[in-house]
Order: sequence, then structure tokens, then C-alpha cells
Amino acid sequence: MQLTMPFVAARGWRLVRRRSGGATYADSMTYAYASLLSLAAAEAVNHLESLPERHVGATATAAEMLRLLGGPLPAAGAQAEEAIEILRRAAQSGVVASPGPRYFGFVVGGTLPVAIATDWLVSAWDQNSGIFELGPAVATAEQVAAGWLIDLFGLPAGTSVGFPTGCAMAHLTALAAARHHVLAKAGWDVEQDGLAGAPKIRVIVGAERHLTIDRAARLLGFGAGCLEVVAADDQGRMRTDVLAETLSGSDGPVIVCAQVGDVHCGAVDPVAEICDIAQRHGAWVHVDGAFGLWAAASPALRSLVTGIEKADSWASDAHKWLNVPYDCGLVFVAYPDAHRGAMLDARAGYLPPGIVQERDPIEWVPDFSRRARSLPVWAALRTLGRSGVVNLVDQCCAHARRFADELAQIAGVAVLNEVWLNQVMVRFGDDDRVTREVITRLQAEGTCWAGGTTWRGQAAMRLSVTSWQTTTADIDRSVQAIRGVVGDVLAS
Ligand SMILES: *Cc1c(COP(=O)(O)O)cnc(C)c1O
Repeated sequence: MQLTMPFVAARGWRLVRRRSGGATYADSMTYAYASLLSLAAAEAVNHLESLPERHVGATATAAEMLRLLGGPLPAAGAQAEEAIEILRRAAQSGVVASPGPRYFGFVVGGTLPVAIATDWLVSAWDQNSGIFELGPAVATAEQVAAGWLIDLFGLPAGTSVGFPTGCAMAHLTALAAARHHVLAKAGWDVEQDGLAGAPKIRVIVGAERHLTIDRAARLLGFGAGCLEVVAADDQGRMRTDVLAETLSGSDGPVIVCAQVGDVHCGAVDPVAEICDIAQRHGAWVHVDGAFGLWAAASPALRSLVTGIEKADSWASDAHKWLNVPYDCGLVFVAYPDAHRGAMLDARAGYLPPGIVQERDPIEWVPDFSRRARSLPVWAALRTLGRSGVVNLVDQCCAHARRFADELAQIAGVAVLNEVWLNQVMVRFGDDDRVTREVITRLQAEGTCWAGGTTWRGQAAMRLSVTSWQTTTADIDRSVQAIRGVVGDVLAS
């Protein structure tokens, strides 16, 4: 099919007249690369350089964004530059400076320059990275990055690794492997025979688990309402005395979900003890370490996660603390057969039978076709090295401690948690309304951004430090802004 495409760079367009007087889509695109990608690169650089000083939160309303981006599907296409220009304008008020140095909302992570550059190459190469044969470079980089991560986290040799879109999908993958394994031990082939009629699996979770554990449990047919919840201590850690009681006398299929790095306060479950108790009952232990697993890489923090290698599966993210762009989760399973068995399609006819296989990324995640999201992980690790990862993690934790220490000095401010990792919870005044008002005004003021939440039944503000860009000066500047807002709110 020969399409005449008007939306190419004007400079390139003049050069491509050939063949029956018109230009083909392919012709025009060849010339569009340099000018269009340079335009996007210039825009990206402007944006990235503006991050440290721009209003941290977005200021746009949905209606403003719709005016800019909406309207009916155009009958004829626009120039590519025009589309990029519209996006440039949308970014001015509609893009949150979340990779910047003073964004402390949720737990998001910034983006290392090398990871952005590599992510551009991922798009340019456009490899379907599911199968080795479709892209040996990216499949090999993924395998290498997987090995580096096992080494970094101190997980058992032979652990299998997948790169799903995020930690939520890592849970789905790991718990599918768990389901496969515990039912196989009970003599049931869940991949073939499904769950109807299968031995019941008890799924035991902590009270402060992340909601993505419930989502994965629902999708896997465990039923959110069937989860057995173990009480947490005052910092949100699973109580092992309650776990032991819950498991006493249990010898059927069981999965226990522990957590390292609570999304509010960063608390870490006592994983070693949890594994000891669970293993006495033949239970599978899954660990949610979306950001907290990175503590395992740091000699200063490793003791927090002692015994983590005794678990059976681990879920984490690269797009949070490793500072690669979205979307990249990490899943690790100590039983590769269960992992692969849960993912691999029994009718996978694309696999040549009976020959030695290269590692196909498709075997370790629910995706089929997929982008080479592990390439920025490879580049980030290759660039940071072990010491760079350790510095990144330790530095964010040091900033969080400084945040807590400085904020605690301000009258009317209470720091609610022990600062385990990179998370700080604070509360202002005695009334929930004060805390909510401080958060609203701080977000409007724009120096930094932190979100509100409810913790232990009270309104609180959460600060999460996860960007390589954050400096001590950024913490001090943010504390100053918070001090000003708290003063205003308490005086009004
Ligand atoms: C962010 C987070 C998740 C979910 O991760 P996604 O990458 O958003 O899917 C799960 N658990 C914890 C503890 C988290 O912080």
C-alpha cells in the first residue's frame, strides 16, 4: 500500500519526491527521523532541565487538557511537528515534575539520564523482546541484568527472573508460580485442570500489605475476601506470633505474603522469622519488595532484610528506586520450573522442540509481545555499578532521615514513624483538617510535592525520597516551604 503522508518534517519533505511524483510513507519517514527526533530531543532536554525549578505539581485541569488534546479524530492527519507542539504545550501545565528533585509523592522514583537515553533506543530498535530470536541483543541484555540483580539482592543462585510492567504484575506472576507449586505438591495440575475442584490454598497476608497483593489474589481466583489477614505491630510489620498461631496445625497448600518496605512508613516485616515459621508448614513465602528489596543491596541496610533469601518469590520494581522510566517491574522465583510452568503456554508451537534453548523473556512474564523494558535496567546497572546502586539507595535514606529530623523541630509537626528507609510520615496540629490544609497549600505553593493519606486512622502527609536528583539543599528548601505553610495554616 502506498500512502501519501503529509505529516513529515518540511525539510525532509522537499527531498523525497520520487516515484510517480508522490512520496511514500516510507520515503517521508526516512527524512523525518533526524528533524523530528531532534525536535523531540530538544523538547525533552528543555523539559528535563526545567524540572528542578518548575512548579512541582501539575496545575492543569482536565478541561484545559481536553481543550488542547481533544476534538474529533481528524479526517486528515496533521504535521508531526504539530502533534509534538501540542504535547509541548500540554507538558507546561499538565505534566507533573515527578522525576525531579523535590517530588516526594507516593513512591515513584526519578529517571537516570542513561536510562532515558536507553529507553529512546528501546523505541528506536522496536524489538519484540519476548523471544531471543526476535532480538538477541535485548534478550541477552535482559539475561545479564537478571544475573546482576540476583547478585545485588543476594538471592539464591538459580533464581529465575522476569521483567513485567510493574510490581503489581510481578505479584501476579510470582503468585501464579506459587499457586502452581503448592498445588503440584498436593498432586494437582492447576495449569491443566484449573482451580475448580482443586485443594484449597490458604493465602495469608499482613494487615499493611499493598493493595496490589489483593488485586493479584483476585485475578488468580483466590478471592480477596478469602485472604487471611495477620495483624501488624505499631509500625505496620506482620506480627510473627499471630502468624504462628494462624498457621498452627496447617499442612495443606499455603502462601504467605510478606512485605519489605511498607508504602507508608517503609517498615520491613521480619522476613527471616516469617520464613522459618512458614517453612515449618511447607508454605510458600512471597515478598513484596517494590522498593524495599533495594535495601538488600546496601551493606548499611542489609540487616533490615536479613533472611530475605529464604523466601520463595520476590516482587520489586526497577521504575521506582533504580530510577529507570516506566514501566518496569521485577519478579524473582526460587523455583524456575514453577515460574516457567505458570507462564509458558503448553501449546507454544513457536519453540523448536528438542534443541537447547536460549532464554526467552516471554517465559517469565504474563506478557506476550513486549517492549525491551529490561534494556534501561541493564544500562542503569552497567553505569551505576554496585557502588552506584548502594549510593543511590543510601543517599535517599539519608535524605529521608534529614527530612524527619528537620521537620520534627517545627512547632506543631509530629513525625509518626521510625524512618526505616526512605519514607517519612508526618502530621500537623491535632486536627485532621490542619494536616489536610497544609498538604493542599503545600501542593499549590509548588516548591515540593507530597501527598496525603490516612495512617493508623489519622490524616497524615507522606514523604518518599526516591530520586537520584534530590540533594540535601532540596530537602532543606522543602523543609523551609513546609515550615512556611504550617506557620500560615496554624496562624489562620
Ligand atoms: C508501588 C508498590 C506496589 C505496586 O507497584 P507497581 O509498580 O505500581 O505495580 C506494590 N507494593 C508496594 C509496597 C509498592 O510500593
